[in-house]
This record gives sequence, structure tokens and C-alpha cells, in this order.
Amino acid sequence: MNMKELTSEEKLAELRKTVRNIPDFPIPGIQFKDVTPLFNTKESLSMLTDTLLDEYKDLGITKVVGIESRGFIMGPIMALELGAGFVPIRKPGKLPAEVYEEEYEKEYGVDKIQIHKDSLGENDVVLIHDDLLATGGTMLAAYKLVKKMGVKKIYINFIIELEELRGREVFPADVDIKSLITFSI
Ligand code: AMP
Repeated sequence: MNMKELTSEEKLAELRKTVRNIPDFPIPGIQFKDVTPLFNTKESLSMLTDTLLDEYKDLGITKVVGIESRGFIMGPIMALELGAGFVPIRKPGKLPAEVYEEEYEKEYGVDKIQIHKDSLGENDVVLIHDDLLATGGTMLAAYKLVKKMGVKKIYINFIIELEELRGREVFPADVDIKSLITFSI
């Protein structure tokens, strides 16, 4: 198939079909959305990159922030294509220089994420990327972390959104959140 000839709706339908659902992984009851098939062929990787970037080309984005670990795959690719830098948000103890930290609630207990203090500044227009929006806890913590650094503007992007979990409702109403592919759960 020549992917270049597809309409944008057809491209999205192709990408949606390419996501692999793994029932009961990593624990019973979870429908795990495996994004690795999207990266597996040059056709789907390039279609994914193009469609993700469609929304962000002319916004003056200076930094893409990716969340460990699946945000480290498309994050740097998007940064390169947008002419922006890439900044990792990581679990505690992984970043070597001075960090800011944010705590967030998980299903069992609390978790933390960190970002290098010198990685963003007041002139940055930031796109925060992760592979999937579920309850929104992880991305909300990332948003708060980046917001505290006083950047100019923040956009939020996911490959997949699980709509029934209503993760986008945990964010302030004026936050720009986009996802490419939606599943009910
Ligand atoms: P949450 O903080 O609940 O929005 O969870 C988002 C994070 O958990 C993302 O980094 C995802 O990679 C991962 N995640 C949560 N639910 C799923 C799922 N059903 N399939 C794949 N990854 C998931």
C-alpha cells in the first residue's frame, strides 16, 4: 500500500489498526495498548510521525519533553522534525544534575518524577509527549513540573487516549491536550 495516497482519516484508521491490544497485561483486567507495532515498519513510523506533527508545526515549539520511558521514542523524533530540543522527565535517581520533582498518586501508593532544573526556561514553548493517557496522573505531574519552571506555553500530546478513564478532566480546562487515536478503554 502507498501510504502517501491515503487521506488523513484513512491514515488514522491504519494507525489505529496497528496498535496491538494485549488483554490482562501486566495484571488481570488491564487492556494493554502496545504501541511498538507503530514503530515497527518505516511506513507506519513515518505515518505516525507525520500525523503527530500535523498539529504542532507552526507553534514555535522550542522543546519537546518526553516522559520515561515510552515518551522517549517519539519525543526525540518529534523534536528533531520541529527543530526543537528534547528534555527527558525521569523516575527518581536517574537524572545526574540538579532536579525539580513532583509527586503523584498511583493506584498503589505514590510515585515521583524529576526534570533537570536547567533544561527549560521562560522563553520555551513546550510540547510534553507520552504514549498514552489513562487516568492522567502521570501527565498531570509532568504538566505541573513544567509549569513551575515558568515556560511561555505548554502543549500536551499523546499517541493514544483511553476515553472512558476521563484522564483529560484532571487538567485545567484551558490546557491544550491532543491525542491521535482514541479507544474507549
Ligand atoms: P496514567 O497516569 O493513568 O494516565 O497512565 C499513563 C501511563 O501508564 C503511560 O505512561 C502509559 O504508558 C501507561 N499506561 C497506563 N494504562 C495503559 C494501558 N492500558 N496500556 C498501555 N500503557 C498504559
